[in-house]
Amino acid sequence: MEIATPLKAKEAVSHFTIAELSRSTIALRHGIDNTPPPEAVLNMQRLIDNVLEPARNLLQKQIIVNSGYRCSRLNSMVGGAKRSYHLSGRAADITTGNIDDNRRLLEILSQLPHVELISEHGGLWIHVAF
Ligand SMILES: [Zn+2]
Repeated sequence: MEIATPLKAKEAVSHFTIAELSRSTIALRHGIDNTPPPEAVLNMQRLIDNVLEPARNLLQKQIIVNSGYRCSRLNSMVGGAKRSYHLSGRAADITTGNIDDNRRLLEILSQLPHVELISEHGGLWIHVAF
């Protein structure tokens, strides 16, 4: 995967990486190339800079990314919505690993800019889009 140098420099100071937001065990298992196109990389970096990193700093705890960018094959394989923000790299499914901290994270995210914010499966993870 090729990433422009300015983004790489920025990633170094962030808790989140484009690689982490593109990773998918399902894609790997099924031989799907989930490499994001440049415009999706830009969207992912905006999501990191405006939402994920500020939320991480306010929460003061690790945030795990379950799913970020999804190419259309991967998106249909996981049953994602046809017009899902995951397709353009604008969404991430994230968790702290426990429901209580996820509740705090949801509160923090509600104060940050977003276009979608959904607590999924009784608070097991949070879908956020920017
Ligand atoms: Zn999602």
